[in-house]
Amino acid sequence: MKKIVFFVLLSILYQANAQIDFQVVDKDFSKVNIGNIHTGHNEIIFSFDDGPVPGVTDKVLDILKEHNIKATFFVIGKNVLAHPELMKRIVDEGHIVGNHSMSHIPLKNLDSIAWKDIVKTEVMDAHKTIMPYLANNRHFFFRAPYSDWNKIFADFLNENEIGKQYIGPILWDIGGEMEIKDGKYLQSADWACWSKKISIDDCMSGYLYEAGKRKGGVVLMHDLRHQSAELLAKLIPELEDRGFSFSTMNDVDWK
Ligand SMILES: [Zn+2]
Repeated sequence: MKKIVFFVLLSILYQANAQIDFQVVDKDFSKVNIGNIHTGHNEIIFSFDDGPVPGVTDKVLDILKEHNIKATFFVIGKNVLAHPELMKRIVDEGHIVGNHSMSHIPLKNLDSIAWKDIVKTEVMDAHKTIMPYLANNRHFFFRAPYSDWNKIFADFLNENEIGKQYIGPILWDIGGEMEIKDGKYLQSADWACWSKKISIDDCMSGYLYEAGKRKGGVVLMHDLRHQSAELLAKLIPELEDRGFSFSTMNDVDWK
């Protein structure tokens, strides 16, 4: 009996360790935002920012599961603390978690003295918050809120043992902004579609056009509004029809 208890304990311990035992390469924070990430491969890498948000993240997870697609969720630390059940689902269903700061404040025009504390809080406190949910990550990923970044942040964070193992700040290839020419959507950004009351089909046509033009890449979406989940449900079959396959941030050949 004692032996059985010992082995059960051992396997629980092993699993607990396995949760945080992922491969980390010695990359570091970049002085500038990293763009042009994975185009030209006819592969789509979905990324969802600003969650987790109840009622939206769950729908996004349902859709991804239905199509057996893994994505990256760039979560906000405060939302992580508020919704651990959604975070557990994200990691249990095989997705990757990225750091999108603690409270999503713009990291610009920061006070010349206070900036270090702010950057440390926003990036490293968020890291501690997402730590229990990184089981599927091969790397630590960061995306800056509003893509605000400064090379002095990179120098400062790379002095930190964990900070210097981060890849980021990471942008996206598809979904950054709206571009409409002669009534044709050449690019779409989900948040802008919904604020401009653009239909899901029109919004999707911009994503599809840009995906075709760039031959795939990292797609930016937000798990903030239900329309984005509806867009995703329609977008995936359209991308499949056009011959795209789906990969993850783990598969990118990071320089
Ligand atoms: Zn954001």
